[in-house]
Amino acid sequence: MEKKECLECGDAIIGRKDKKFCSDQCRTSFYNRQNTDQNKFMRNINNILRKNRRILEKLNPSGKTTVTKTDLLDEGFKFSYFTNEYRTKTGKTYRFCYEHGYLQLENNLYALVFRKEYVE
Ligand SMILES: [Zn+2]
Repeated sequence: MEKKECLECGDAIIGRKDKKFCSDQCRTSFYNRQNTDQNKFMRNINNILRKNRRILEKLNPSGKTTVTKTDLLDEGFKFSYFTNEYRTKTGKTYRFCYEHGYLQLENNLYALVFRKEYVE
């Protein structure tokens, strides 16, 4: 017979073969911790997205402007994080952080835009 250990505390499990925890208490704390890690991960990403949005909002108070890549990087903008992409018929790809977006132009310039309509 295979000896199993509790995933939470490592104690030997007595009883059914498919049991993963020695007690209800261990099961609860195991899943609680897992949720906390997951929530922390999501919170970090949400914070990055919110910060990106705040940067775009700050650099684009009029709703339409052009900035350099350095302007964005100096503010701590993270290009890997965005909420959605919008591709125009001419093949340009806008990336958005919520309602604020940008389009990469030539020479490290970025056009900043603002768009409130929700796109499917
Ligand atoms: Zn246990």
